[in-house]
Amino acid sequence: MSLQLRGVTKTFGDPPVPALEGIDFTAETGTFTAIVGASGSGKSTLLRIVAGMTEPDAGEVTMGGRTPDELRRGKEVGWMAQRPALLPWRRVRDNIALAQSINPRPDRELPSPDELLEMVGLSHVAGSYPRELSGGMQQRVALARTLAIGAPLWLMDEPFSALDELTREALAEDLLRIWQQVRSTVLWVTHHIPEAVSLADHIVLLTPGPGRVAGTIDVDLARPRDPTSPAFQAVVRQARMILRGAQAKRVVA
Ligand code: ADP
Ligand code: MG
Repeated sequence: MSLQLRGVTKTFGDPPVPALEGIDFTAETGTFTAIVGASGSGKSTLLRIVAGMTEPDAGEVTMGGRTPDELRRGKEVGWMAQRPALLPWRRVRDNIALAQSINPRPDRELPSPDELLEMVGLSHVAGSYPRELSGGMQQRVALARTLAIGAPLWLMDEPFSALDELTREALAEDLLRIWQQVRSTVLWVTHHIPEAVSLADHIVLLTPGPGRVAGTIDVDLARPRDPTSPAFQAVVRQARMILRGAQAKRVVA
């Protein structure tokens, strides 16, 4: 059931500008992979290809032998982005319930909307409207909605980047707690290296556009991770060196 990307390549526009070139990596089932690169390195494009929302020009993506289109139609993919995109006229509980009713999974035992809101610490606002919630709370609702369909693959595109530091840390803690229970396979896009080191099992580093794999890092640190520890900082440094090397090569070329 591992998620495999082989030679994924995408070019946009006329004249053509390459966004991704020959992306290869495998994410084993139940692991947390962070994809890290500068703005414009093709991270969102990569996630959209895995989600079946964009066709690659070359290469292929499979999970358990199925294509992104099959995964999407089978409701196997949970999606979370920077903006929560909640329906403003529906109460929080009804936003979650709607996600379940338009993605019915009779074959899965799913938590109820109230159980999901409890998992993300939002039981007390189940009857509120999204506008009554802070940005961090709205992202918690979006997380509950991502969990709501029981998808084995979560695709997350910088979901914390609009949040302040403290909110981000609290949400990261909850996300990891929930992921450790559920163990879906996660692809987590970020441009923030310490965030990737604090969350992920594996980090895939992309070169500045066009995105190629500049290097990968296995993060062998026990959770919860202490960002002030020398071991943590060594991984951050290793990631920076790989990205800097990729940047320098591009300037020379
Ligand atoms: P990132 O998420 O890492 O910032 P993107 O995947 O959004 O990078 O973009 C990678 C490159 O592809 C950029 O040069 C961007 O302008 C281009 N691009 C992305 N989507 C489109 C599109 N739909 N049409 C044209 N160009 C696009
Ligand atoms: Mg992006």
